[in-house]
Amino acid sequence: MIMSKPICKNILPFIPLILVLGVIACPSISYAADKSQGSLVIVGGGEQTDEITDRFVELAGGAEAKLVVIPTASSDETLPEPKASAITERWRARGIENTVLLHTRDRDEANRNEFSAPLREATAVWISGGAQTRLASAYVGTKVQTELHALLKRGGVIGGTSAGAAIQSGVMIENGNPVPNIGRGLDLLPNAIIDQHFLARNRGNRLIEAIRRHPNLVGIGIDEATALVVQGSRAEVIGDSYVVLVTAAKGDQPTGILTMRKGKKIDLKEFAPKQKSKPIEWAIVVHGGAGSVRDDASDETVQAWRNGLKKALDQGKSIVEEGGTSLDAVAATIRVLEDNPLFNAGKGAVFNSAGEHELDASIMDGKTMDGGAVAGVSTVRNPIGLARLVMEKTRHVLLSGPGAEQFATEQKVERTPNDYFSTERRRESWERVREKEAKKPTVRLSPAQAWQYGTVGCVVLDTHGNLAAGTSTGGLTNKKFGRIGDSPILGAGTYADNQTCGVSATGIGEQFIRHSVTAQISQLMRHRGWTLKRSAEYVLNEQLNKGDGGVIAIDRFGKIEWVYTSPGMFRAAADSEGRYDILIRDEESSD
Ligand code: ASP
Repeated sequence: MIMSKPICKNILPFIPLILVLGVIACPSISYAADKSQGSLVIVGGGEQTDEITDRFVELAGGAEAKLVVIPTASSDETLPEPKASAITERWRARGIENTVLLHTRDRDEANRNEFSAPLREATAVWISGGAQTRLASAYVGTKVQTELHALLKRGGVIGGTSAGAAIQSGVMIENGNPVPNIGRGLDLLPNAIIDQHFLARNRGNRLIEAIRRHPNLVGIGIDEATALVVQGSRAEVIGDSYVVLVTAAKGDQPTGILTMRKGKKIDLKEFAPKQKSKPIEWAIVVHGGAGSVRDDASDETVQAWRNGLKKALDQGKSIVEEGGTSLDAVAATIRVLEDNPLFNAGKGAVFNSAGEHELDASIMDGKTMDGGAVAGVSTVRNPIGLARLVMEKTRHVLLSGPGAEQFATEQKVERTPNDYFSTERRRESWERVREKEAKKPTVRLSPAQAWQYGTVGCVVLDTHGNLAAGTSTGGLTNKKFGRIGDSPILGAGTYADNQTCGVSATGIGEQFIRHSVTAQISQLMRHRGWTLKRSAEYVLNEQLNKGDGGVIAIDRFGKIEWVYTSPGMFRAAADSEGRYDILIRDEESSD
């Protein structure tokens, strides 16, 4: 029989939180081990007690066990000797003779049948500590994840400590305290978010925040030298310290907290709400160029920029939320911005040194890694559409100048006289820049000129899991006739790869070309296992000069990021979790 009674002891470490939050009613249950469902031994890090190791070894099958150890959370790219032997020796000393290591940073490798073969034989897997993002980058969504789930299904045991604990939930805390960055884990324990080193590192508030964002999940904070052993939905606390359950506030019920220690047995079903929290299904991010409105800009000016971004965002959002493709959403969003005279793309493009407009655009498909681009076109009303046709109708990636115009004629795309793109505002700024440059020719643009930009870009993850990115621009004011910037160069201004991320850049194009900015961000994720945020910050902050510009990006899990060093960036974002931001100045995003 299940009885409900409030927990009233073993609560000391959590008292400050409990004073302001509710206490979860604590049903006690009858508990019988059932190995047929597979087991998890989720350890909160720190020193591992014999009790925890013994329990894992017993569940693994003792001397009969076939153990696979996954050390990928550690900072070692390859696992050198004597470290590798030390790991296997440790388990051999515990009586598991048959121990092998499984380690790669390469998702292609993780997807190879031969790589995951040891998992098919295994009775047990141990995932050691380090950074959970390294585990996620290498294995989430690969054959390794499938094999881990299969192992549990056939009654095996998966144990892990620290990062090896965090990775076991589906919605995973990557890092950050007290504001957590959320990514995706291996989803071995459904309906939960696991946090580790819980009391030792004072992580109560970050787990509460994670559960506030994912109220359908139960938060499980596991302190050091402590483990939660889970079979099916039944869970038991072992070890020296506490496990803390956190449930979301609902109606007039406050956030719930339950502290448990050794010997406590519960049924997680009593705590985990009914439906499973879904991963992000779709996401869209848009930029309207590096730079911002002047501090003294009128409310109408600010509102006009906001409306422009909103119209474009809504266009892409409506396509992707109805199941449309990321390519369709990117192209349609950029088209809206090309038609808006405020932005430096299509109508409203800047003037070149000859007093004309030459437009650049590109689009890239993360699924096929195919792309299309046009450079220096002067009569094509919507260059993004022509870029897409280059991708879909030719065997090339980039067409320029007269060749691109001729292709536009063949494809019967809409044309327009060059002065259609002109606006008074852009003419005035051209005259200003021309005068200034005549006095003092600039070899390199200074960051202070950033506010003149207005290039547009868009990145989308669609409900089919495909990323796409696109960028469109009139380039830089008073650019030399024939100059081509980064926007039509795949890997510089635009990039998309389903394995990593989609990115669109804006800023001083020469710098983005020199440093292959968008491709480099993707490569850092792929080969270093870094998160999108870290990769983008590294390239923008460490490789480019301050003020060079910025990027918008989405990773393969739908996580939206923007990083810029210019004085502001026009940007907007929405996703299937209800995010909706339109930002002009340096306000904090609501994420
Ligand atoms: N990156 C563009 C270029 O250099 C300009 C911009 O982003 O505003 O052509």
